[in-house]
Amino acid sequence: MRVSRRLLFVFAAVALSIPAARTAAGPGSNVGKPGDVSHAGQSGDAGNLRTKVVLLGTGTPNDDPERWGPAVAVVVESQVYLVDAGVGVVRRAAAARAAGVKALTATSLNRVFLTHLHSDHTLGLPDLMLSPWVLERKAPLDVFGPAGTADMASHIEAAWRDDIAMRLYGLEPQRTRNYRAVVHEIKPGRVYEDDHVKVDAIAVTHGSWPEAFAYRFQTSDRTIVLSGDTRPNDAIAAACNGCDVLMHEVYSAEKFKIRPPEWQRYHAAFHTSTIELAALAAKARPRVLVLYHQLFWGATDEDLVKEIRAAGYQGAVMSGQDLHVY
Ligand SMILES: [Zn+2]
Ligand SMILES: [Zn+2]
Repeated sequence: MRVSRRLLFVFAAVALSIPAARTAAGPGSNVGKPGDVSHAGQSGDAGNLRTKVVLLGTGTPNDDPERWGPAVAVVVESQVYLVDAGVGVVRRAAAARAAGVKALTATSLNRVFLTHLHSDHTLGLPDLMLSPWVLERKAPLDVFGPAGTADMASHIEAAWRDDIAMRLYGLEPQRTRNYRAVVHEIKPGRVYEDDHVKVDAIAVTHGSWPEAFAYRFQTSDRTIVLSGDTRPNDAIAAACNGCDVLMHEVYSAEKFKIRPPEWQRYHAAFHTSTIELAALAAKARPRVLVLYHQLFWGATDEDLVKEIRAAGYQGAVMSGQDLHVY
């Protein structure tokens, strides 16, 4: 029952959204269709693109078994660029690999861009440092993030000190120190560049966090902006400016009304409602707007899309689920 409802939604979303996106982008547009990762490289448009965006986890601190901790993989051919490290990130990469995104091997997980240091976005950091090391990753983990990232990484190393010594000096044939995090505490602007991608960090407003970032990835075929956690911020719209994929956090404006006042204060300061996102997306003009890190409070994927449409947004919008590829 669950599967058929989900499939229905995917088809409904494609039917609703793709024509609008083609109109906006003109003929020949290569708007990524959502879909189970199993369709990547087979039937979905994302399968034909050099750059794919894979939702490894779309969750929040809520213990929803269908939505793992927030983590997204931008995959450019064999190269993997992770954004955030939520619970289960290494196993979610394996699930995406099994379903068709071949680049997502454990040992390819050697870079992560943290949006901020909230626990839901970083609980997978020890996993990302240690598990691929045990599986013989050839390099340490590059970690890009705000001030405080180096402290977090060194505390993780200290917490697992005995495990690391046991593996290095016990019977395991483990001789590298590639559990290490090479930390880059970044400021807004260009933070990374190689032959495949240019990555810019954008300062966003996530309540009282002194630093939180959105990221913009530019590759040879696509421009992708990921909001991280933030209140509506014009800098994200400017960074997108007609980008291919705008992946944005969101909460249900409708269900917000029944939240307790103390939680309403928190959500309004830290996050973005469907109504606010509709206005932001109209300025950003992405080929497709993908919702992630959704706070549903009993609403459904369809409800969030309807709220955004009701708020006046005309472009393609889809509510992401774990292992969707765009
Ligand atoms: Zn979060
Ligand atoms: Zn947060």
